[in-house]
Amino acid sequence: KKASIGVTGLAVMGRNLARNLARHGHTVALHNRSEQRTRELVEQFGSEGEFIPAHSAREFVDALERPRQVVVMVKAGAPTDAVIDEFAELLEPGDVIVDAGNAHFADTRRREAALRERGLHFVGTGVSGGEEGALHGPSIMPGGSKESYESLGPLLEDIAAKVDGTPCCAHIGPDGAGHFVKMVHNGIEYADMQLIAESFDLLRGALGYEPAQIAEIFRTWNTGRLDSYLIEITAEVLAHTDAATGKPFVDVVLDQAEQKGTGRWTVQIGLDLGIPITGIAEATFARSLSGHANLRAATKGLAGPSRTPLSGSDAERFADDVEQALYASKVVAYAQGFNQIQAGSAEYGWNVDLGSVASLWRGGCIIRAKFLDDIRAAFEAEPGLPTLLTSGDFRKAVEDAQDAWRSVVSTAVCLGIPTPGFSTALAYYDGLRADRLPAALVQGQRDYFGAHTYRRVDREGSFHTEWATGARPERPA
Ligand code: NDP
Repeated sequence: KKASIGVTGLAVMGRNLARNLARHGHTVALHNRSEQRTRELVEQFGSEGEFIPAHSAREFVDALERPRQVVVMVKAGAPTDAVIDEFAELLEPGDVIVDAGNAHFADTRRREAALRERGLHFVGTGVSGGEEGALHGPSIMPGGSKESYESLGPLLEDIAAKVDGTPCCAHIGPDGAGHFVKMVHNGIEYADMQLIAESFDLLRGALGYEPAQIAEIFRTWNTGRLDSYLIEITAEVLAHTDAATGKPFVDVVLDQAEQKGTGRWTVQIGLDLGIPITGIAEATFARSLSGHANLRAATKGLAGPSRTPLSGSDAERFADDVEQALYASKVVAYAQGFNQIQAGSAEYGWNVDLGSVASLWRGGCIIRAKFLDDIRAAFEAEPGLPTLLTSGDFRKAVEDAQDAWRSVVSTAVCLGIPTPGFSTALAYYDGLRADRLPAALVQGQRDYFGAHTYRRVDREGSFHTEWATGARPERPA
């Protein structure tokens, strides 16, 4: 019997994807650069399903049914190129290579174009959910040709998470679309985590609550509209006590956040596409600020306001206000992320269905949340929605939250609690809804020093003012 799919690269992610496939009744060919991992998988989990371990790349390819489907799950970057090259030599036209690692979508575009020339399908696929997700049901974002999805899609949909019976997997669009969407998913994840972290900091700084009390607040929030995996695990982390010291776990962790780079990619591409993904950018910068130990040590003594925690009715209202500010800021962060997908889709001609993206993020992935079903509904009702902020229910929720949102941001400013995520979200909201922006003045400045010209509100065309002459005459540029 031949295998319907093969996995090469059997570290945590590859191993768990292979097991997930086998558990769903698919025969899976196995391969890894060093044979040890292949052996271990079969020894430990061989009883979970049908595996065909291969000793060489040739043997692996020969074990596969046509069209052969090879899932590559190795270290991103040069190792992925090396493995793709190795298999491209052995495969035949019509076969499919799937890169399920965290590749940059531009690399995926390059690889797809090169393999298409050789008649091979290359499917760059986002997979989210970490190792647990890979085993029990991840959220899967495959790019590549429609044709490749015909053979590959059913297998991926089988192993994906399910929400209301719908698999958290759908064809995203050609070439790099899948990895692009996964990149934005991770960017949104950065923004969401930052907003939650700011909420914690505010509840502690303004109310003096202990982490365990704040964990309870998050648990309550998790029963409402903020119901999500990230809120759920936040409560767990906050409630956790360090065994060695008896202190709250969060107080013994070094406060320098690390990053692997997908947030940075999202911001870089946001700049390239000219999309203001300020929530993701602030979250990424907040991580880098936290990591600048020397800078933080050097500035430790800089004066701040005296911190008198809130009291009385302000204090009673505050937790609820933070919930509203968090919700509104979250809507902004997601709205920005979806705008970036829209922009990428337009730039590269992917025709990405935003409702389907929201749908497949409802389960399996790190940002899974009840809220994503509302986003799915919003885009399904109006596929060309310019921003989530104008969609009926979101618009109302954010408008209803705005007083609390403003009050939380101003409390944070007064108490000297940094809330870059909340603040930038509110500034974005106010920026978008403003009748007039000071961009007009910026245009005047640009015209003054660089003769960059400006447009007028009352006449068509470009204009330039002769600033240097006393009379300052204006002429069409
Ligand atoms: P790693 O990223 O640690 O990669 C280890 C695997 O890559 C091993 O199988 C290793 O083989 C193989 N490898 C490394 N270099 C080469 C090479 N030059 N030639 C052939 N094989 C090579 O594994 P993970 O399972 O953590 O992740 C796999 C991919 O999935 C990565 O792209 C990662 O970014 C992505 N990912 C990871 C997630 C996670 O939670 N870990 C979540 C989502 C995506 P050997 O055993 O011989 O060393």
